[in-house]
Amino acid sequence: MAVSDDYADKFSAIFERTLFPLLSAELQAFIRHQAGQYRFTLQELRQICEISRDLEMWGEASIQQLWNSAQIEKSAGKAAKKIIINQLTADWLALKNGATRYPKREKHPLPVQKLKLETRDKKQLGLGFCPVASERTRCCNLMTLDAIDNCGFDCSYCSIQAFYHENKIYFDQRFAEKLQALELDPNQTYHIGTGQSSDSLLWGNKHGILDTLTAFACANPNVILELKTKSKNIAYLLEHEIPSNIICTWSLNTPTIISNEEHRAATLDDRINAARQVADRGIVVGFHFHPMIHYDGWREEYMQIFQRLQDRFKPEEVALVSFGTLTYTKSVVKQIRQRGLKSKILQLPLINSDGKLSYSEEVKLEMFSRAYRSFAAWHGQVFFYLCMENNRLWEPVFGYAYPSNEDFESAMKRAYMTKTGAAL
Ligand code: SF4
Repeated sequence: MAVSDDYADKFSAIFERTLFPLLSAELQAFIRHQAGQYRFTLQELRQICEISRDLEMWGEASIQQLWNSAQIEKSAGKAAKKIIINQLTADWLALKNGATRYPKREKHPLPVQKLKLETRDKKQLGLGFCPVASERTRCCNLMTLDAIDNCGFDCSYCSIQAFYHENKIYFDQRFAEKLQALELDPNQTYHIGTGQSSDSLLWGNKHGILDTLTAFACANPNVILELKTKSKNIAYLLEHEIPSNIICTWSLNTPTIISNEEHRAATLDDRINAARQVADRGIVVGFHFHPMIHYDGWREEYMQIFQRLQDRFKPEEVALVSFGTLTYTKSVVKQIRQRGLKSKILQLPLINSDGKLSYSEEVKLEMFSRAYRSFAAWHGQVFFYLCMENNRLWEPVFGYAYPSNEDFESAMKRAYMTKTGAAL
């Protein structure tokens, strides 16, 4: 049935305010037809479009397949609409709450990425406290240094996408000058990390970024400078003298998650081999398992990596191992739907946890406890911690907890300084 004139006029205005324009032409045609028939309100249309978008991203059944016309035809008008919305929501929830199954495959074929590397003069040095820390979590008070803005790895769960919406990577024109001018208290120890606003190694030494960071570390031996990465681009670290107060840490994940959610980042093998080569240069390394994802097969796949690290690295070479999982704000969820990358990230059964969307405490306790137990050989020799998690989880996972963020922070700094041989 064609969309009636008055509804059509209203329809074109309201669908702009939904995800409708981002859906495939086939889906749009289907929803337009149903909308004409059932005269959806803005809220109903928004819901139907979000469910359609999720199903597309998840690679699950399409909304046409879930649209059980038979049952709907038994009713009419408002009642029919109610059945449609309830049925679709129930099917969507069932997919969300069921076991998350990832297809076994190589990396998704992705459209060619046209990134533009640009320089700009940022008003001030991008140095501040970790943007994802919150008063509801036990936090290490990491200071983050935004050497570069925006990233090229396209990890589907990454919160950076909520800040940067374009394909431009920004280098700060006067970054070196600002960093050299930074005055730090020589009697204080600082833990500063790059890798929050972009990947620390992906761009190599473009615009002299790694020259600047190593010079900064050389000039400030009381700084632990952590270069966090998902890259295999370690040429600079292999070809240059790197001061001992620089540590390189890799975010690792299972091959299933890397091929399905970390679309353009290096493979697991490449990351572990890169870390091995860097450690062979005497540079202290570390590993972040963040986000750990709970899906069919997670136990086996994570355990394999934990064992592999203990086979390839000595504890004296490794400063840290951290665990964490997904925590979302609504704006990141909105951004993920806007981008529509093939991903099951929004299919995960996340609940409201400490003001953000995350796994239930029960799931977290199982994942983190199993992970920590798997590193028994490194307990007491490597610094283990939970990132962005509530203090409630520490005791059950580690058997200890820090009474405050400051205690956590100083324990971490002591451990890193000891591992890097820096004077305490
Ligand atoms: S624990 Fe994680 S979230 Fe908290 S400050 Fe440290 S790095 Fe940031």
